[in-house]
Amino acid sequence: MGSDAVAIQCKADSVGSDWVLNGEKAWVTNAAGADLFAVWAQTDAAAGSRGIAGFLVEREAEGLTVTDPYKLMGGHAMGTAGILLRDCRVPADGLISPPGEGFQVAMQGITAARIFVGAQCCGILKAGLERAIGYVSRRKAFGRPVGSFQGLQWELVNVATEREAARLLVYRAAAAADRGLSATVEAAQAKKFATAAAVSGLVTCMQAMGAHGFLIDSTLGRHLATAKMAEYLDGTSEIQNVVVARSLFGGALD
Ligand SMILES: Cc1cc2nc3c(=O)[nH]c(=O)nc-3n(C[C@H](O)[C@H](O)[C@H](O)COP(=O)(O)OP(=O)(O)OC[C@H]3O[C@@H](n4cnc5c(N)ncnc54)[C@H](O)[C@@H]3O)c2cc1C
Repeated sequence: MGSDAVAIQCKADSVGSDWVLNGEKAWVTNAAGADLFAVWAQTDAAAGSRGIAGFLVEREAEGLTVTDPYKLMGGHAMGTAGILLRDCRVPADGLISPPGEGFQVAMQGITAARIFVGAQCCGILKAGLERAIGYVSRRKAFGRPVGSFQGLQWELVNVATEREAARLLVYRAAAAADRGLSATVEAAQAKKFATAAAVSGLVTCMQAMGAHGFLIDSTLGRHLATAKMAEYLDGTSEIQNVVVARSLFGGALD
């Protein structure tokens, strides 16, 4: 599964009171260390999203294999890997979301995850800004701290302003979710904005720090890789656009 979440290829067949899962899921966060997997699989391809069901599968279940973790540019601690399911038998009580409900449950989970990713990017950007401001306040050129040059200050002011805007979008989405409202569009807007603000803002912070920002020890490269990763997680920025466009246009273009 990638951007087209309904097109899940992993199959679940009902056998007696059990289910048998077959398929493959690439890109599973925490797969390297997880003891338990939430797996969404298609029970009836003709039913589309209504055929999708959710299962809990133990790591030790026969037929489940975790691949080696991917070698990534960042996010190493996430232990992201793939899982293979070959005639993996799941008992009836492993069904956590029956067909007809599974897809909706998955989408609710993804809305919460998008808010979390937006918040993560605000935190990353805060760390980048603090580091850059500390550095430019100490580093001197032309007889004064480089942070005293207005051109450089304004670059960092723009980053700080984008970060505040991202935080407010994230808070708005989180507040809607907390109140039990649908936060689908708010979460998409928050994630789209916060991830882009983090990627571009961290590049600005690196530039403000001169070559020093390019050192591994400056940590900005690691933050930048994580922010870039966030532009894929839980739906790419383009897919957030699809979600927002749907709410803007409604059925007007059908
Ligand atoms: C570190 C990491 C951890 C991850 N963990 C998980 C996880 O735990 N669970 C999980 O399910 N996934 C996970 N993912 C996968 C992530 O959700 C996918 O990468 C993402 O949904 C995009 O799918 P894809 O990479 O297959 O890109 P594709 O779907 O192949 O898309 C390729 C490009 O086409 C664009 N595109 C696709 N459709 C449209 C459209 N309609 N309009 C405009 N552009 C479009 C995309 O935005 C993208 O730029 C993880 C990814 C990473 C990097």
